Amino acid sequence: MKTQGVAYSYCDMCNQVPKCGMKLHLEGERIVRVEDRENYPAGPLCVKGLAILEEQYHPDRLLYPLKRTTPKGSPDPGWARISWDEAYGTIAAKLNGVKAKHGAEKVGFFVGDPKEPRPAVQRLAYTFGSPNYGTESSLCSRATVMASQLTFGLVTGGGRPTKETGTCLIWTRNLAHTAPFEMERLQRAKKQGLKFVVVDPRITQTVQQVADLHLQLRPGTDGALALGMIHLMVKQGLFDRDFALRWTSGLPELVKYAEEFPPEEVERITGVPRERIAEAVRMLAAHRPVTWIGSASATVHSSNGLQNHRAILCLMALTGDFDVPGGLTIPTYPLPLNIFGGNTEFTRERDLFPKLSEKRIDKDRFPVWARFNSEIQMNLLPEYVQEGRIKAMVMFGANAMMWPQSALYQAAIEKLEFAVAADYFLRPWTHDFVDMVLPAAMALERMNPIAIFGRKIFLREPVIPPSGEAKPDWVIAFEMGAHLGYGKEFWHGDETQALNSILRSVGLSVEDLRKGGAEGVTVPAPGPEVFRKYEQGLLRADGKPGFNTPSGKVELASQVLKEYGFDPLPRYKEPVESPLSTPELAREFPLVLNSGSRVLMFTHSKLRELPSLRKLMPFAVVNIHPKDAAAQNICQHDEVDLESPHGHIRLKANISDQVLAGVVDVSHGWADANVNEIVARYFDPISGFPAFKEGLCRVRKAGGSP
Ligand code: SF4
Repeated sequence: MKTQGVAYSYCDMCNQVPKCGMKLHLEGERIVRVEDRENYPAGPLCVKGLAILEEQYHPDRLLYPLKRTTPKGSPDPGWARISWDEAYGTIAAKLNGVKAKHGAEKVGFFVGDPKEPRPAVQRLAYTFGSPNYGTESSLCSRATVMASQLTFGLVTGGGRPTKETGTCLIWTRNLAHTAPFEMERLQRAKKQGLKFVVVDPRITQTVQQVADLHLQLRPGTDGALALGMIHLMVKQGLFDRDFALRWTSGLPELVKYAEEFPPEEVERITGVPRERIAEAVRMLAAHRPVTWIGSASATVHSSNGLQNHRAILCLMALTGDFDVPGGLTIPTYPLPLNIFGGNTEFTRERDLFPKLSEKRIDKDRFPVWARFNSEIQMNLLPEYVQEGRIKAMVMFGANAMMWPQSALYQAAIEKLEFAVAADYFLRPWTHDFVDMVLPAAMALERMNPIAIFGRKIFLREPVIPPSGEAKPDWVIAFEMGAHLGYGKEFWHGDETQALNSILRSVGLSVEDLRKGGAEGVTVPAPGPEVFRKYEQGLLRADGKPGFNTPSGKVELASQVLKEYGFDPLPRYKEPVESPLSTPELAREFPLVLNSGSRVLMFTHSKLRELPSLRKLMPFAVVNIHPKDAAAQNICQHDEVDLESPHGHIRLKANISDQVLAGVVDVSHGWADANVNEIVARYFDPISGFPAFKEGLCRVRKAGGSP
């Protein structure tokens, strides 16, 4: 560890990816300045990354293990400092007690934000004997991955445009807030002639900066819009007939179903003018190849989210630009390491998990999820606890506020026989309900995991020692494992040995990465990139041409969905509550709720304690169109009540024509105005994802009557 000069690391302020590079200036053991890291694949730093030292040296950081001294349900947990020995001793006694009495599977393991401890905690769960390990991917991103696996038989989250790309279709992703470092590159490409079609219910900065055409739809209707575009593509012969006939299955059924989505009907459902839909289809056909930057989650945050997302993937398939230069490509030689810095040998998904999976608690309710994911679908935690299927939990970076009807999740955690949480700060909305809290070391204080960009790997060495008695979360998981009786399986707490066991899969060691220094180490690819891999048998384990789906084709009609009793086509369903599905309710609650939009300065509920970021957004707001505000006599920054049939919160109005009239938009993660209190617990039946981007609500001046 250096004590003077500069050191290098990467940022975790927005949850594991993209890991923007950091150059840190040290004076003694204190970091005094942070700036962009040269020659590093991700950057420049955004406002969150630049605020990392405020988080690192925050006076309220959790520095010691704490145990509650009052019974659960008391208004004050009465936190008392304890030693790590006492903490581990209690954890081992409680978890082994539950295991002996009820079975290891009754202990749940969970990783929220940051995502960095995932491989270590997954290994801990399976080694202990529980398959019931889950993460915040139960409601973020993973449903889009499933939609891709069902359709293409592989994971494709979207592709960056290259110099060959003609059109980039950005579907409900505000990169200016979620990946700000990408914007400069996109703007440069736009100047060089790349066309952008952006689908988003809001006029975001991404729309303002790059869109040639903006399709502003009612939230939750993405599937109808995609089917309407398919309808026009087929009718006007603007799809890639050769690709579709040869490499897709279910084309006649999809074409027939899409007949139900003529432009006037799609305009009625989505609110997007029919001329714009036609123009979008023309643009995709005229400027090929087409690539797509999909939403990490927005399209799947509705009660029909997985099928809505599949409709978009079917649209992409019909362009014929899958895995062509400039189209939606996938890497030919990905490293056998995941973005969380682990692999399936390390996590023990290969050897232990298959023996445990019969006891996973989600397999009856979400069988398609269970087929594709070793992580369990955690969104029914209150039900699992109520039914006695989970009796204790180990949580890293958990956040009860992230779920709709959050109070049910707080009550479930409180009801557990034992719950322990590791975190950076005490977060009352979750920790008031647990028995013990452990201090986690922050990004600049810890080693694991490695950063992986394509075939390039960077080692992260701790820049400064952990504050107080905080420990790196990988070390906490390993030491917990050792105290539970599995010292050997956790290298007796030695992180370097653990990392060596992972790096062996790519022929490297920690020492090799150390030698690579700040430049990182590139693992040479066995050959050049190959396109149209489906033609050459590179996508299937049996080496036959085609896709890794049951039919060997891109499944516009999914055989797996059919097998599980779901509609094989990407059928559109109206949100459970909407102006079209529940018109009577809509008279009482006339506005559509779009919740969960990310803002540039915060990550979910994190970072609100940092002064420079809080200055940028001091309070929670509901973004409301001027017409809707005027109808309620609401002025800028008035206190307002936001109500749905499921709850009520109070916050301030931000009057903005960047939302559609009839739609309001609220960001999440505000403890004093938690929008999830008004979101219903409607879950997509295939993925189990919550419906954050649909539902009805009303806004009125605080204290007023409807
Ligand atoms: S985008 Fe911002 S918060 Fe995310 S890794 Fe980069 S600098 Fe950090």
